[in-house]
Parts: sequence; C-alpha cells; structure tokens
Amino acid sequence: MSNSNLTNDVWDVIVVGGGMVGSATALGLGQQGMKVLLLEKQPVDLDWQENSAYQVRVSALSRASEKIIKNLKAWQGIENRRFHPFTAMHVWDEVTPGEVHFSAQDMHEDNLGYIVENNVIQASLWEQVLACENITTLIDVNIDNLVFKNNQAWLSVDNIGIFKTELLVGADGAFSKVRQMANIGLDTHDYEQCAVVGCVKTELPHEDTCWQRYTSNGPFAYLSMGNNVSSIAWYLPSDKMQWALDLPDDEFSKEIAKASDYRLGQVVEVAERGAFPLVRRHAEHYVKPNLALVGDAAHTIHPQAGQGVNLGLLDAAALVETILNAKQLNKPWGSFSVLRKYERWRRGDNALVQRSMEGFDWFFKQDMALKSYIRKPLLPLANKLTLVKNWLMGQALNGREALPKLAKSESIH
Ligand SMILES: Cc1cc2nc3c(=O)[nH]c(=O)nc-3n(C[C@H](O)[C@H](O)[C@H](O)COP(=O)(O)OP(=O)(O)OC[C@H]3O[C@@H](n4cnc5c(N)ncnc54)[C@H](O)[C@@H]3O)c2cc1C
Repeated sequence: MSNSNLTNDVWDVIVVGGGMVGSATALGLGQQGMKVLLLEKQPVDLDWQENSAYQVRVSALSRASEKIIKNLKAWQGIENRRFHPFTAMHVWDEVTPGEVHFSAQDMHEDNLGYIVENNVIQASLWEQVLACENITTLIDVNIDNLVFKNNQAWLSVDNIGIFKTELLVGADGAFSKVRQMANIGLDTHDYEQCAVVGCVKTELPHEDTCWQRYTSNGPFAYLSMGNNVSSIAWYLPSDKMQWALDLPDDEFSKEIAKASDYRLGQVVEVAERGAFPLVRRHAEHYVKPNLALVGDAAHTIHPQAGQGVNLGLLDAAALVETILNAKQLNKPWGSFSVLRKYERWRRGDNALVQRSMEGFDWFFKQDMALKSYIRKPLLPLANKLTLVKNWLMGQALNGREALPKLAKSESIH
C-alpha cells in the first residue's frame, strides 16, 4: 500500500509504539476486525537462533499475562524461542533471620509464572501482528505533531504526512511523545535507586526458584532462566550505577555472589549487563477524547515485584474490551465517555500496585532499628501463614481488579 493511501484513510485505531504492550493492543483489536495502524520507531527482530545469547531485559510474566498472550495466539512463538517457568519464590532479609517461601505446589499450580526475555515476547507478538490482515505496520517513523479535529486525532509523521484516526493509543513507553504532545501531566517520584540487570551463570542450580534478598542497598534478585543461568536484578543507590557498569567481569561476579549472600554459590560467568534509573511515573490522565495511554506511557513502577509489563498487558486487554464493547453498541469508541470506562478500570489498580511497591521498599529499608525489630518475628510468622501467602501470590499471579476477558481462560475468539 502506498503512503498516500495510508494517509487518505481514517483508521479505526492508530497505536504508537510496538513494544510488548502496544503490539498486544494492536493485535487484540486487529484480530477482532478493527482496522489498525501500528507505528514503531525501531526495527523489530523476529529471527531466533537456538543458542542466541541471553538478553539483558527479561520479564516475569504472570498467569494473567500468559492468558492474554495465549488468547492473542502468540504464546507458541514464546515456546518456540525460549522461556522458563519458575515454581517457587524465596524471600529473605539481610539483617533478620526469617525467610518466606512461596511455592507453586502449595497453591496447586504448575508454576508461579515465567521468566521470558523481552525481545522474545515482543517478537512473538509481532509474528501475529504481521500475520493479521487488519493491521498495517510502519517502522522507523518519527511522529512530530498531534491535533484533534472533527472528533478525530490527526497525527503528523515526518516525511509521510498526516494520519487520521478515531482513537490514537500512546504505547510509546516511559518517555511517551504521545503523552507529551497531548499535554498530559505526569506525577513522578525518583526512587534514587537503579537496577543493574543481565544474565549470570552460577555455581549452584537455581532450582527453578526466584531468589530475592533485601539488603541495606535495596533488593537483590536471581530470576531462574536456564541451566544454572539466572537473570539478576541488583538494586543499588543511583550514584553506584556507573560503578556497577564499569566493574571488570571478575569483580562484578564477586559483588553479585556477595549481594546474594552466596545463595547460589559463586558466579562463574556473566553476560552483557545494563542499568536503569528507577522512577515512578503516573500520567495524570490515561484518556482524552480520541486518545488513550497504555503501559509504561501511562505508568512506571519499581520493578522489584516484576509487575510493569503485567500491568501494561492488563491495560491493553481492558482497552481492547472497552473499544470492542463500544463498537458492538455502535458507540464512538474514541469518545471521552467510552474511554473513561477504560481509565476507571485500570488507573486505581495501577496506583495500588505502585503504592504497594513503595510500602515494600520502605518496610525492607534498613534505615530504622524499629523496622528490623518488627521484621524479626514477622517474617517467620508470615512464612507459616500459608493462606495469607497464597492470597498474596494469587494477587501477583492473576491480577487484582475485575480481569478483562483476554486475561481469562476462555478466549474471546
Ligand atoms: C530493570 C527493570 C526490570 C523489569 N522487570 C520486569 C519484570 O520482571 N516484569 C514486568 O512485568 N515488568 C518489568 N519491568 C517493566 C517492563 O520492562 C515495562 O513495564 C515494559 O517494558 C513496558 O512495556 P511497554 O510496551 O509499555 O513500553 P516499552 O517496552 O518501553 O515499549 C515502547 C515501544 O515504543 C517504541 N517507541 C517509543 N517512542 C516511540 C515513538 N515516538 N514513535 C514510535 N514508537 C516509539 C519503542 O521503540 C518501544 O518499542 C522492568 C523494568 C525495568 C526497568
């Protein structure tokens, strides 16, 4: 199709950003017959080699996310590439003796989720995007202006022209240009921490367990990936970020083993590493007439409980359901009253998870003797309260608020 045909049409929906959340949103709508344009600024690599090096960025996918991806027919792509189910989670603290152990067996589940590389999730969703005849994709685009006219969003793209749509979805990540162009404000909080991530090989097996230790610097986690391979999430004060990135591999290995209290023995090999400053962001609004934000464009949270993309995929599923319901009732899906239903559905849940992460962070910070004193009896007690533990894990695994249809077992197809 020529670019002039693309700009003559009025698209049912335009999604800006083809990351995990944007591609899921486009798929959910395109597979239900809506005419979608997906704009992404970077090429997406669908190639996969059996022995591909482990990627820096991984996600812990919840059961709800698994169901969304399965309902979008993209799970097979993940299985064809690489993923790792984890069956237990073990949490402990540097200064108090208690440990809390969550196990899939206690919950009568096969596993507690999956650790999957982000590029594997994105490529698996894109495979389906490219197979869907209702979705048109444009890569390497630069969006540069947005106006609202005639109950439509008009989006200018460099060197192409103006695209018109009933609904523009901003799925373009934490620094969303769509959010900025729509003049939507942002509530931010700097955690003054960074996360150092990457894969390492350890002396001892991870036992399909995610290990999380709370230290005076912040949490440290091993997420089980492959044969003695775990992805690390090492949280440090922001001013230590460059130090951690610059450490020679042998010293980095020693620091990692120390941060984990040698739980998996020594670190014997390290792959590429990366580091991210951690900032909580929450858009003041998720919607405006003819516009909606999803995923990191709407909210970012502390990744210690691995919830960011899980919340984003729930946004995608809730927005898809809201739009499809409106379409079925012959209502304009870009209208404010329709889009407010999506905002009411998701904003409170996302805010609750953001606040819970802050509560966790506060509780485990070793900055007050009183907190250590309270944790001392609490952690061993929490470990014995199987019902409470299972409830907490159930919330993380399955999501909290009323789940969108795409996140339930039965498919909407
Ligand atoms: C250290 C760390 C660890 C994490 N671990 C987990 C975890 O275990 N589990 C979990 O659920 N979450 C985790 N998260 C959070 C998770 O990575 C994010 O929530 C998730 O990547 C958000 O997906 P998204 O699609 O909304 O945004 P992104 O992944 O940022 O994707 C945005 C897409 O938009 C594109 N784009 C950007 N600007 C434009 C533009 N102007 N035009 C067109 N395209 C554009 C980008 O190229 C990209 O493809 C972690 C985050 C960090 C920092």
